[in-house]
Amino acid sequence: MTDASPAARLDSVRSDIASAAKLARREPGEVTLIAVSKTQGPETITPLLEAGHRVFGENRVQEAEAKWPALREGVDGVEVHLVGQLQSNKAEEAAALFDAIHSVDRPSLVTALATAMEKTGRRPGCFLQVNIGDEPQKGGCAVAELPALLDACREVSLPVAGLMCIPPAEVEPAPYFALLAKLAQDHGLAGLSMGMSGDFGTAVTLGATHVRVATRLFGERS
Ligand SMILES: *Cc1c(COP(=O)(O)O)cnc(C)c1O
Repeated sequence: MTDASPAARLDSVRSDIASAAKLARREPGEVTLIAVSKTQGPETITPLLEAGHRVFGENRVQEAEAKWPALREGVDGVEVHLVGQLQSNKAEEAAALFDAIHSVDRPSLVTALATAMEKTGRRPGCFLQVNIGDEPQKGGCAVAELPALLDACREVSLPVAGLMCIPPAEVEPAPYFALLAKLAQDHGLAGLSMGMSGDFGTAVTLGATHVRVATRLFGERS
């Protein structure tokens, strides 16, 4: 795997997405592949840009701020998504920098983002992160708190794109993906950000619209 060229890895991930989509009678084009480029530098990101990939993910505001202005210069259509946790005091930087935010998980952050969007004039789509396995150490709102979080978003007209989850490690993820899909459906939300290197195929069969992949594209992180 680590010997394959970046373009070959990209093809391999895209082809797995297409197979999973086909199984579920979905169109591969319904699934956006987010290449999560956290900790990666220009030497590994540029080859993906050259291979035509345009959608990337970062988990830290500061790292993204340092890397992406130069990387995206002169390249059309680049999108950078924030997939990591966001502190309210970084909301303005995040609104200015990112094209989507996948980690909105509490009313105070909803308020901060609404203010930030007003100030910056930018409206990145927001995914509400759900702590789908009810794990104390994990980010995300509790399943029971999702209706209240959605109400908070509506109150300030936050652009809600959908739901996001990171299921518990080391267990079968399918039931968690299915639950997130059900919640999105119940609330009339189209976007489903779920699935990482180990489980994006399963996520796609269960309705993922956005998969967030790092290791399969960049190799193991040191
Ligand atoms: C790093 C990361 C991913 C990708 O992880 P891999 O398993 O290496 O593909 C996906 N989502 C989030 C939130 C991440 O931080």
